[in-house]
Amino acid sequence: MPCINTPMSRKIVAGNWKMNLHKEEAHALISEITGMLNDEVNSEKKVILFPPFLYIGAAVQLCHGDHRISIGGQNCSDKSNGAYTGEISAGMLKSIGCKYVLIGHSERRSYFQETDLLLAEKTNVALKNLLHPVYCIGETLDQRNSGDHFDVIRKQITKGLFHLNSIEFEKCLIAYEPVWAIGTGLTATSAQAQEMHAYIRDLIRNKYGNEIAENSTILYGGSCNDQNAEELFQQPDVDGGLIGGASLKSRSFINIIKALP
Ligand code: PEP
Repeated sequence: MPCINTPMSRKIVAGNWKMNLHKEEAHALISEITGMLNDEVNSEKKVILFPPFLYIGAAVQLCHGDHRISIGGQNCSDKSNGAYTGEISAGMLKSIGCKYVLIGHSERRSYFQETDLLLAEKTNVALKNLLHPVYCIGETLDQRNSGDHFDVIRKQITKGLFHLNSIEFEKCLIAYEPVWAIGTGLTATSAQAQEMHAYIRDLIRNKYGNEIAENSTILYGGSCNDQNAEELFQQPDVDGGLIGGASLKSRSFINIIKALP
């Protein structure tokens, strides 16, 4: 596969806007974020915005002056191109300036029946088009309560990513998002997040070795907000967050960025 640069720093805050905001609201949010980043955040912080597809072109343009912000797609097709009405390809995302793409968000897995096999294909096509996949994994509450959560995570990551060679894998980021915490206001405790992130890093270590494991970015997602981000981000294996609801307000999103060590 062709070569793309590996992300330099492990630490990232990403905003997943999902299917929210009209055009004017989206543009205003981007302007507020870029303005506040300039005014209030001196240090180098890496930020990724995942707006709806329709706003990506404008987001790329509006963020052009700030090298700290990258733009990504919330999804892509597993196909490269062709007669797939309504789909968006990884190549299209790349061509309008995306650097990242979310793969396997739990809402895609549950509402659109996306399987690990399909998600492995999406990962392949994203990498082929020089995008960094942000591969989302997470267990349901039932799976956690029955003690299956480590097994579920191991299977998701093994089926979706571990077919990659190490050069390909280094281009990928992982977002651990317990399904029971997404959009529910229930956050994993910092101990629960750290425990799972350390487990994921160990899986990576066993498969690809220590150096790749230590350089891998593992984001936490699930009701992360400006009240709990600091404690979560202080955990040694939590490298930042994938933020849903709290990324739709510039004030809370900037506060979460500031909480990144
Ligand atoms: C998400 O959708 O990735 C997410 C983490 O959402 P929320 O922060 O709203 O729980």
